[in-house]
Amino acid sequence: MLKLYNTLKRKKEIFYPQDEKCARIYACGPTVYFYSHIGNMRTYISEDVLRRTILYNGYDVKHIMNITDVGHLTSDEDEGEDKMEVGAKRDGITAWDVAKKYTAAFKNDLKELNIIKPTAWIKATDTIKEQISFIERLENKGYVYTTDDGVYFDTSKVSDYGKMANLANVDQEPGARVEPVPGKKNPEDFALWKFSPKGKKRDMEWDSPWGKGFPGWHTECVVMCINSLGIPIDIHCGGIDHVPVHHTNEMAQAEALYNQDMARFWFHSEFVDIKSKKLSKSKGNIITVESLKEEMFSPLDYRYLCLSAHYRTKINFSSSAMRTAKSAMESLKSKVKEIRCETTARANEAYRREFLENINDDLNTPKALATTWKLLRSDLGKEEKYATLLSFDRVLGLRLDKEEEEKIPYSIKNLAKERERLRKERKFEEADKIRKEAEEKGYKIEDSSQGTRIKKI
Ligand code: AMP
Ligand code: ZN
Repeated sequence: MLKLYNTLKRKKEIFYPQDEKCARIYACGPTVYFYSHIGNMRTYISEDVLRRTILYNGYDVKHIMNITDVGHLTSDEDEGEDKMEVGAKRDGITAWDVAKKYTAAFKNDLKELNIIKPTAWIKATDTIKEQISFIERLENKGYVYTTDDGVYFDTSKVSDYGKMANLANVDQEPGARVEPVPGKKNPEDFALWKFSPKGKKRDMEWDSPWGKGFPGWHTECVVMCINSLGIPIDIHCGGIDHVPVHHTNEMAQAEALYNQDMARFWFHSEFVDIKSKKLSKSKGNIITVESLKEEMFSPLDYRYLCLSAHYRTKINFSSSAMRTAKSAMESLKSKVKEIRCETTARANEAYRREFLENINDDLNTPKALATTWKLLRSDLGKEEKYATLLSFDRVLGLRLDKEEEEKIPYSIKNLAKERERLRKERKFEEADKIRKEAEEKGYKIEDSSQGTRIKKI
């Protein structure tokens, strides 16, 4: 029996899909104005464990993730610039190209972390028509007013506005918020539609009954969620920061229009605190999956680090925490190597039950990992042990079934790439220097009919 903590109810509840077969899950996706950092990726790892656990319990999952490619402002309080425009200025390309570039980077991060792809992706910019019609319906019900800079939702009209944030004891005092936006009736009111600045053409803007502009982030998500999964859905997911504003505002709009909760369960993953921002400088002031790789960590080392903490506890990220996770992963892999075999054996029932009990207790991954270690140290026969381990890995997602590839440091791979480029430009002398540099570092770059190969000397 799977129990999940429901932020809305502030307690663990038994979970089963509404239709008893397929769980309908919506996860707030990335704002694709820059690379995702490892904090963001922790949230997606938690959601991946959630999905895998539901599958492990024998249900299907329909998992929708949106891509926020317009309308998420630099402040959650409807102020500041659209992050996509910030990205466009920073990179010197259009907001559309920014979205393409960082969506691709995000999808690559998911792959590296062995996160199962959502059943479907939905881009906010692909659902503008639906969003406009949603706002019109809210307007017809009297929840909407217009100011000089946009169309706003009147939160005072929803009697229990902010109920999830209050229940979760998150500070939602109006006074604690930033300077009010002129024309807003209540500090918590939020933009459903923002007007394009006067006299300025944005990369992304659309006509609407209220004027040219773009949708508000909270409207995008509620529309994509309900249109793709219906109402109520089974689980709405995101990082814990979404409780007081983004999810509260999605919920308020759904209640206004449908008079019911939009989700049965609200699932929130705790933050990663990143004190030292400087693991690598390659992606600016953030730590990314790529920068972990530059430091010789595998993305799955980071996945292990995330699994070693419960998803509702904070992780204090540090290089030393990463080193501990890496060394745990290495001993795990070397233990698995000893038992890897072709087998048709079934998972051991007692271990499987223990694992299931742990993971079904609100995704207790630290305990599930403890069971995994206990299994590996047990005196079960090799085949049964390996079969049981593979069964656990359906939830852990640590790719324990895969032979480890020979590890080539990122810096050496880069040297090989650079050499390849120089050779294409027929700069053979410089290319040769690079080959020597790699050799001095202990790696041989070889050319074969299948392309360049790197080998440890
Ligand atoms: P964003 O791309 O900013 O829209 O965020 C993507 C996801 O990452 C959201 O679910 C956020 O709640 C989550 N998130 C943002 N910062 C962190 C962090 N430091 N640790 C964990 N999750 C985060
Ligand atoms: Zn969202």
